Amino acid sequence: MKGHCLCGRIAIGCIDHTDVSVCHCSMCRRWGGGPFFSIESKAIEIEGEKDIAHYRSSQWAERGFCQHCGTHLYYRLQTGGFYAVSAGLFQDAANLRLHSQIFIDKKPDYYALANKTPTMTEAQVMEMFKNWDGS
Ligand SMILES: [Zn+2]
Ligand SMILES: [Zn+2]
Repeated sequence: MKGHCLCGRIAIGCIDHTDVSVCHCSMCRRWGGGPFFSIESKAIEIEGEKDIAHYRSSQWAERGFCQHCGTHLYYRLQTGGFYAVSAGLFQDAANLRLHSQIFIDKKPDYYALANKTPTMTEAQVMEMFKNWDGS
């Protein structure tokens, strides 16, 4: 499965799977104007890497975007090779389905997704990362 940014300078290939996660945290919403829909992957291929700029959004993670068109590409951890790649890059991907919602307690009241998915609060996400060994 392969997707690209608005201007086409950057293409990202990621393992073809269908689970989309959505993050309602305040940083994702500030970054993108809404919740961040992504596909989690530990093995991605990037073309046009020199055009990617990164913003270090926390001690443990950074966000990549196209320097030319501004398309948001991914959130990635500093270590361990974990990527959450923007689902919006993959316009041709069939069968994507919403799989989970995180930071549900940070979601503002002005929208709600109708999809029935498992949800995690900020505290539950932090607990998961605390127990995550980065492998
Ligand atoms: Zn671009
Ligand atoms: Zn987030």
